[in-house]
Amino acid sequence: MKCSKCNREAVIFVRYNGTHLCREHFLGSVRKRVFAEFHRQVHLGGGERIAVAVSGGKDSTLCLYMLDEIVGPMRDVELRAVMIDEGIEGYRNEGVPLVRQLCSGLGIDLEIVSMREMLGITMDQIAASARDESSCTYCGVFRRRLLNAASRDMGADFLATGLNLDDTAQGIVMNLFRGDVEKLARMGPHNNTQSGLVPRLQPLRKIPEKESHLFCILEGIEFHDSVCPYAEEAVRNIYREVIARIEDDCPGTRYAILSSYDAIRNALQKSYPPVELRQCGCGEPAVGDKCKACQLLDKIRG
Ligand code: SF4
Ligand SMILES: [Zn+2]
Ligand SMILES: [Zn+2]
Repeated sequence: MKCSKCNREAVIFVRYNGTHLCREHFLGSVRKRVFAEFHRQVHLGGGERIAVAVSGGKDSTLCLYMLDEIVGPMRDVELRAVMIDEGIEGYRNEGVPLVRQLCSGLGIDLEIVSMREMLGITMDQIAASARDESSCTYCGVFRRRLLNAASRDMGADFLATGLNLDDTAQGIVMNLFRGDVEKLARMGPHNNTQSGLVPRLQPLRKIPEKESHLFCILEGIEFHDSVCPYAEEAVRNIYREVIARIEDDCPGTRYAILSSYDAIRNALQKSYPPVELRQCGCGEPAVGDKCKACQLLDKIRG
């Protein structure tokens, strides 16, 4: 099949817009969307430091790679990478050498934060313990806390993550179906700053997972392609399956979810303005007296 824009062979059929794209036009279209989304989310004036959360997986690796392309030429904007080692044997430890190699190749400083050292517990220990909630609930809360603290401590103005279109659509639908409208209003990217919270950037939020994967393969970007042993426990799996099924029948559904959300986001944020945050005993911002991570740590320690 030929590319819809030139005479070269197509490498992908983009179902949601009905185009066949060759390697060059596909890579160009991903870059164009990421660059535009990044500049829509943030206006850099110079002197900023951006922390990028990396795990070694395709999305966060692509995010770091893209941000290096975007802000690399700006001499007064600095990128730093942060990796959380959750303590998952046979999974996360295998991603560490790849991330080290990626960062050293790009000349970007990397900080690896160990859950064991910072919280005194690993995800392997949590997964093996008796608990009411899924491993991913603990992992998500702890990772957010460690990423926020590490980015804040390194003086970062923003924290960029590799959230792709599939993740974003799942998050929107999940919050909506759970009736968690406040959380829906607070989803990133963040255009307001709250004391102690480093605002999030999500430059890949318009890139489908499949395109992120193909981009890495075509550009020869190495990533850690393995599944976490606890992934089956994730509550979001059901949303992943449902949205993928609807997307299959009605291509463009994920974009429709995202653009509907963006259209009502301002109104949502007006109805649910950010609450005044307090400081938890651990130093992290909290809605009440204790942050969510400390509440979960109390629970797991009985
Ligand atoms: S699948 Fe769950 S436990 Fe595994 S890294 Fe992701 S959030 Fe953590
Ligand atoms: Zn082409
Ligand atoms: Zn706390």
